[in-house]
Amino acid sequence: MRLPVYLDNQATTPLDPRVLEAMLPYFTEHFGNAASKAHEFGWMAEAAVDVARGQVARLIGADSSEIIFTSGATESINLALKGLVEGHRRRNGRQEMHIVTAATEHHAVLDTCKALGMSGVRYTVLRVDHFGRVEPDAVSRAIQDDTILVSVMWANNEIGTIAPMSEISEVCRAKGVLLHSDATQAVGKIPVDIRSIPADLLSFSAHKMYGPKGIGALYVRGTGQRIPLAPQIDGGGHERGLRSGTLNVPAIAGFGKAAKLAAAEMEEESKRVAELRDLLERQICAALPDVFMNGHPVDRLANSASITFPGRRADAMILAMKDVAVSTGSACSSAMPEPSHVLQAIGRLSADARATLRFGLGRFTTEEEVLYAARRVVEVAAGSQPAAELFHSFGNQGRH
Ligand SMILES: *Cc1c(COP(=O)(O)O)cnc(C)c1O
Repeated sequence: MRLPVYLDNQATTPLDPRVLEAMLPYFTEHFGNAASKAHEFGWMAEAAVDVARGQVARLIGADSSEIIFTSGATESINLALKGLVEGHRRRNGRQEMHIVTAATEHHAVLDTCKALGMSGVRYTVLRVDHFGRVEPDAVSRAIQDDTILVSVMWANNEIGTIAPMSEISEVCRAKGVLLHSDATQAVGKIPVDIRSIPADLLSFSAHKMYGPKGIGALYVRGTGQRIPLAPQIDGGGHERGLRSGTLNVPAIAGFGKAAKLAAAEMEEESKRVAELRDLLERQICAALPDVFMNGHPVDRLANSASITFPGRRADAMILAMKDVAVSTGSACSSAMPEPSHVLQAIGRLSADARATLRFGLGRFTTEEEVLYAARRVVEVAAGSQPAAELFHSFGNQGRH
């Protein structure tokens, strides 16, 4: 067993060696520009991009023509939200617009909404229940006459809760409002099929599904003009004019391979990973009866465990446990001292939010690693003195 044990697969996943193998030829002999139409080098690159686009599309039940390659989910989300606002402004000079989103969204969505807010777009941030779920009726009630978009994440990156996307998509259809989903943690881990759950825009990323960093996709329903998206990067007109710039062919080839592997192995892998996750939770709970879990007990990603250790400090536990790589929340908020906005949104007191560790298992996690990590977590939690100022009196709220 190699130390440290990696249990932070929500932040990023290791590259699958089969993905690396699929990428290598496009760094070496097939180095061509996929937009070079005049010679063999370009054709080889273009062919690789076509194959990968098909593989990525198939994973979510889309058509190849509906996949726009970007640098990752953050860019996809920016293109979806800012692109739609700008598209409406260009199409009919409209200024007044409204977006509906939720409190547990990734900063890529929340901060994009904030930026749009500065240009006059109104947005509603919906509350969630104690499990972190957005109520479909609340989505319905929040939609106004000038609502152009509902943006709800498919699965949460901190607590793993899976949103009731089917019901939310029905609400959006009934009201005639477009639906975007940040599906970065869902795609490749659970079935996401936009034929059965008709989102209009979907953002996701290769490096959360054993592909390389720096490549992602935006799914855009249909190829017509129903969704007025304005590009956020102008140039040579690549990607249906929505995202100019020379394609990152090796990364795209890797993304395609990762998508193909996920489609083939998802079912078996999620069963195996769920068993390991349950083992981790059981081991920790058996030794530390005062801990509690965050997120939905059933509608939750198989690889996710968010565990609160009342009276302890998660940051101190992490420092004391350098042989186990876990986090306190999303990678993006680790640099900030604020307690997790997701844990606060599900009603955790800030002392409990600061006492919470996020575990993310993955394709390469072994039982030996899980048992090791559980033992270390128990040792560290038992050794850290509960601090008087963190005295825990309301912690039963929302427990399960
Ligand atoms: C990782 C992540 C992102 C950002 O993805 P990048 O490809 O790194 O930009 C956005 N949303 C969620 C839910 C994520 O987990």
